[in-house]
Amino acid sequence: MEVIGSIAEMRRFRQQLTEPVGFVPTMGFLHEGHLSLVRQARTEDSSVIVSIFVNPAQFGPREDFDKYPRNTERDLALLEEVGTDVVFMPSVAEIYPDQFDSSVEVGRLTQRLEGAAHPGHFSGVTTVVAKLFNIVQPARAYFGQKDAQQAVIIRKMAADLDMNLEVVTLPTVREPDGLAMSSRNTHLNPQERKAAKVLYQALSLAQELWSQGETDAGKLRRQMVDLIRREPLATIDYVSVADAETLDELDRVQPLALVSIAVKIGRTRLIDNIVLE
Ligand code: AMP
Repeated sequence: MEVIGSIAEMRRFRQQLTEPVGFVPTMGFLHEGHLSLVRQARTEDSSVIVSIFVNPAQFGPREDFDKYPRNTERDLALLEEVGTDVVFMPSVAEIYPDQFDSSVEVGRLTQRLEGAAHPGHFSGVTTVVAKLFNIVQPARAYFGQKDAQQAVIIRKMAADLDMNLEVVTLPTVREPDGLAMSSRNTHLNPQERKAAKVLYQALSLAQELWSQGETDAGKLRRQMVDLIRREPLATIDYVSVADAETLDELDRVQPLALVSIAVKIGRTRLIDNIVLE
């Protein structure tokens, strides 16, 4: 496994790789969610590149860039184990040199949900992902359904800007009690970790109501809100039932509907979602 820090060297090494090249962008502190993406790339692509880059541009001024968990040694061991060919691990100065002054913007889709909660967040995401796509030039790039809005936005960016690659979205990997795996789960103390189950419980309730024939989106939202409010450590940021493609909020649930929630457990903000089919 090759570990590369510079863009120039990444480009050079890229030329020798067997096509097709699969690419998994990450911010490191890897868990089974990330590894599921790498494993899928391993089955579909001849070469697999994983990037580890904690992208300052997608963190707000008061957000957790400095506190974001990092463990490069462990990450590299895990990536080696699942069969990664190249780990691209650039520094912040390599990606954003002093005179850097461009951005890639996707419109409407970035204004709602996570975008409304964190203005500028998706601009940071699309700009870095576009740069990484240009550097790595993958045939396929893999993203987790865990960050559903991000996946929809990157798909839109790739389509609108004629990027020559396939955007693949793969299912959310969960802990046994349903909590979606996330690097941020490490911020939870044992009591908060227990309370964090409420996210998946709320999503499961929405799934159950929908399966029983409930199509009133307002009712789904209200029932989820009521359930989450019963958990004293939880504070709701949003509970959304939206069209899975446009992200427009729905009055009547119709497939594919994205049920997504953002909830603070103590001081840790967690997001999760399911799709109603
Ligand atoms: P991150 O390191 O948080 O930027 O995540 C890198 C990629 O892994 C993104 O495409 C995420 O959506 C994906 N990912 C993160 N957590 C999970 C999970 N629990 N299941 C599946 N994919 C995930």
